[in-house]
Amino acid sequence: MQKRILVAGGAGFLGSHLSERLLSDGHEVTCLDNFGSGQRDNIKSFEDNPSFTLIDGDVRNPGALPPVDRIYHLASRASPADFTDFPVDIALANTKGTHRLLDHARACNARMVFASTSEVYGDPEVHPQPETYTGNVNIRGIRGCYDESKRFGETLIRSYQEEYEMDVRTVRIFNTYGPRMRPDDGRVVPTFVTQALRGDNLTIYGDGKQTRSFCYVDDLVRGLVSLMRAEDVDHDVYNMGRENEQTIKQLAKKVIDIIETNSEIIYEPLPEDDPSRRCPDISRARTELNWEPTIPLQEGLQMTVPYFKSRK
Ligand code: NAD
Ligand code: UDP
Repeated sequence: MQKRILVAGGAGFLGSHLSERLLSDGHEVTCLDNFGSGQRDNIKSFEDNPSFTLIDGDVRNPGALPPVDRIYHLASRASPADFTDFPVDIALANTKGTHRLLDHARACNARMVFASTSEVYGDPEVHPQPETYTGNVNIRGIRGCYDESKRFGETLIRSYQEEYEMDVRTVRIFNTYGPRMRPDDGRVVPTFVTQALRGDNLTIYGDGKQTRSFCYVDDLVRGLVSLMRAEDVDHDVYNMGRENEQTIKQLAKKVIDIIETNSEIIYEPLPEDDPSRRCPDISRARTELNWEPTIPLQEGLQMTVPYFKSRK
């Protein structure tokens, strides 16, 4: 059945892929975005679709929003490179912005999905990370504006659920990559791919032994939709990501091989509080939502490179 869906952050990397999928499923989509880290180009292919409406606005203070049946809250800068320059924007998008959208969901009796993050686990002491792990976050560190605001966003959601019995679901997203990330976003995949395409050296922070697990965007979008669609869920929070733990050095070598460049690897200082290991435990999503990623890293990178080639 057709739904009216608000995608906050709909001009961003994940939000634009999600909006495109929802439009192709026949829904009406309203995108709320302030273009802080989003790009107009991301919505170009569907901006003229009559079922699509753009509100150029801030989730922290969105003004009047249309009545909707579903809300996805993805409006937050997500790159660690932005944590130093935009800490207040980030902290409030995930707290005040979540508050605003919860009020709107409550007024419309809408179901909501909140995009939380693996960063709620901080530098994890438990491996891989299940949803029950409560994390190890430095609340006053450089990543605190992001990690802790996502954590409080989750707390606010729990509070609204307790008091108003609302249907709000949280997804803790692990590193996801693909076309439409900004080449200068600062996150590792767009950075390495852009450096390799330009023949520049790839900048590994630290010794490159830290790990991440990389999920291709199409798999993640399928997960977001399945979480929203499920009529009954046994839990209100799900990890989503791929379980292919890689060192950053392995990733750099993979990018160099795929692009066949003469770029070399250089080492730069590791930023403060950079998590040393990260890998999701996705048993809950696999069992309860029947969701798991299917696209291997090699294949996902090959689908990503042409986009960055056109942008370099
Ligand atoms: P992105 O930066 O491409 O997208 C974020 C979008 O939100 C952008 O279009 C930006 O302009 C918009 N935005 C930011 N602050 C806003 C504000 N105050 N008001 C209105 N719009 C605002 O990043 P992304 O990777 O697509 O991330 C989307 C969401 O998913 C974020 O909430 C992020 O925390 C979460 N997430 C992403 C990843 C990932 O690996 N991509 C991992 C964990 C969590
Ligand atoms: N990283 C790197 N070089 C870069 C960008 C990132 O070595 O040019 C590292 C970063 O220090 C981290 C990992 O790659 O260990 C993933 O970084 P990203 O910013 O993509 O996301 P994070 O998982 O840290 O939020």
